[in-house]
Amino acid sequence: MNEDMKQKSDEYWKATLTPEQYNVMRQKGTEPAFTGKYVDNHADGIYRCAACGQELFASTTKFESHSGWPSFTDPINRQHVELQDDSSLGMQRTEVSCANCGAHLGHVFDDGPVDTGGERFCINSVTLDFSPEK
Ligand code: FE
Repeated sequence: MNEDMKQKSDEYWKATLTPEQYNVMRQKGTEPAFTGKYVDNHADGIYRCAACGQELFASTTKFESHSGWPSFTDPINRQHVELQDDSSLGMQRTEVSCANCGAHLGHVFDDGPVDTGGERFCINSVTLDFSPEK
């Protein structure tokens, strides 16, 4: 993995990401609920960061949250994501970003399935790139 991904310029991201990806991943926007391409994806495989390719989530941890965004109980590896307090928009939330490139991915909430520890990683589809299992 390229160690320099966090040093990339705003111009670089504007040129390489789609406008929707740029809005979410670099400006911490949120895609409208139930519009993302992976909300109802039930195929087996791996979800990577759409900006840098880092492996982020596995289909085995995806569950139906009915929130309108792809939801996972865990990341593939805790070292692959960064969690940070986020008090924007008058809410106390925990932001989830890609540890490799710094892209905003979504938020993690504590209302997930109890049997897997209670976490719900609520992730924007546009930040993910799905690789089906072969
Ligand atoms: Fe990334």
